[in-house]
Amino acid sequence: MMETEKLMRKVDCPKCRVPLNVARMCDQCGGTLTAFTLLNHVCPIGYLQRCIDVVKKEGKPSDRICPTCVDAMTALIIPGSDPGLELDFCLKCQLLWSDPNELSRLPQKSELEKAQVEAERLINDARKNQAELEAKISNLQQQAALNGAVIGLLLID
Ligand SMILES: [Zn+2]
Ligand SMILES: [Zn+2]
Repeated sequence: MMETEKLMRKVDCPKCRVPLNVARMCDQCGGTLTAFTLLNHVCPIGYLQRCIDVVKKEGKPSDRICPTCVDAMTALIIPGSDPGLELDFCLKCQLLWSDPNELSRLPQKSELEKAQVEAERLINDARKNQAELEAKISNLQQQAALNGAVIGLLLID
């Protein structure tokens, strides 16, 4: 495929081939292009990795085209889900294509998992704050040492 042709087809709906809107949704069919990482937020912990493993093993070439790299996407009947829930993945771009209401049919995180994720977030925030404070303190100490040196010089005069 020519590069210009690729560019022209960029960010088109994999199904209707019309340009996607700014939210990477298709106004015509209501489908959505989503980053894999969204599944980490929505689905049980480890679910995304399981999906990727199954896509690699059992995925079938889809007639839908990845809007970003313009290669054929990989279709997968989502394991352990509603019957017939089929999503299209592009492993290269880490994107998935879903028709309207398909994402909400994916398994969701349990309350316990949500709490675990929230706890991890809080711990990470606390670590970051601590690192920032330590950097500030070390800056202040350097500043103080510098001021002390300047005062020392002034006294010598
Ligand atoms: Zn569409
Ligand atoms: Zn792609």
